Amino acid sequence: GIVVGDPMYRVPEALLSAAQLAMNRAKAVDQSGYEVYDVSLHDRAVERLALESGLRRAAERGELVLHYQPIVSLSDGRIAGFEALLRWQHQELGVLLPSRFIPMAEETDLILSIGEWVLDRACRQMYQWQQQIPALSSATIHVNLSGRQFKQGGLVDQVDRILRQCHLEPSALALEITESIMMADAELTTAVLDAMRSLGVGLAVDDFGTGYSSLSYLSRFPIDTLKIDGSFVQGAKENAGNRKIIRSIIALARDLELGVVAEGVESTDQLAFLRSLHCTLGQGYHLGEPMNAAAAGRFAAQGREASRTARGA
Ligand code: C2E
Ligand code: MG
Ligand code: MG
Repeated sequence: GIVVGDPMYRVPEALLSAAQLAMNRAKAVDQSGYEVYDVSLHDRAVERLALESGLRRAAERGELVLHYQPIVSLSDGRIAGFEALLRWQHQELGVLLPSRFIPMAEETDLILSIGEWVLDRACRQMYQWQQQIPALSSATIHVNLSGRQFKQGGLVDQVDRILRQCHLEPSALALEITESIMMADAELTTAVLDAMRSLGVGLAVDDFGTGYSSLSYLSRFPIDTLKIDGSFVQGAKENAGNRKIIRSIIALARDLELGVVAEGVESTDQLAFLRSLHCTLGQGYHLGEPMNAAAAGRFAAQGREASRTARGA
């Protein structure tokens, strides 16, 4: 971390803390690189600090909300479930997407309490829908897990407790984890996933095909669903390689007796292509955008409307 001396640094500590900021930035970019301090680094650090302390209070203030995106059966357009996606309704900055604040929450312990809140909120919502909306009586709720939650002890007990408190059947919950989380510590993964499986909770591999994973794990871990990353689906029209990858993942899933969800379905063409491969489930703006709970409930209640869209009619 390099800082150029200037009279504005009145005390040595100010100079050192500027150098520290530059060093942190250098480490984040490239472990063996260097960075020269400039004021934008300071501005970014201040913004980050403000966001971080805001996030601490966000949950208490009710600024965190879940949106729900339908996961749709491609054969008949029925809603198989919803994925819960976190949003932060920031008082000044508007609605923030997870990419803006989840990495920050993951660097602190905040992700643990936020993750627990998400699980609880999503399970309660699904139970309520199952009671009120006949089309959702056997639907599942998908919840994303971060690596930090996975590594913390007691996740399985936490999930068990939340399911009981919410009266939700374990089979109505599916946890989404990425390949990198799965691969980080195979022993831990086996222990946690086996215990989740014993509870009866579903397990899906998120963004499948983009991470680093070993295929042998797919048969070793008690996974039940692969979610094909949206980047393959979106590139399917132009790119024959992407089409082959999608076809292969669907064949792999079939052989391993896993469910398969195509993510990021944005067009009729993509939907038709996935249908031609007998892909069972899809998710994407074309099938239904992430919506707040009330809108998602309405979307599900108007089942025929939704299935007509999903059939491309
Ligand atoms: P993900 O789990 O892969 O979620 C799918 C993302 O794709 C969502 O972005 C969704 O809004 C977006 N998406 C859905 N349909 C389409 C489409 O047709 N086209 C395109 N281009 N995108 C589509 P979002 O909501 O911004 O979430 C981003 C990521 O943040 C999620 O990726 C997930 O990894 C993470 N995330 C979201 N909620 C939570 C949470 O509660 N906890 C944790 N740990 N991570 C979360
Ligand atoms: Mg996901
Ligand atoms: Mg994904």
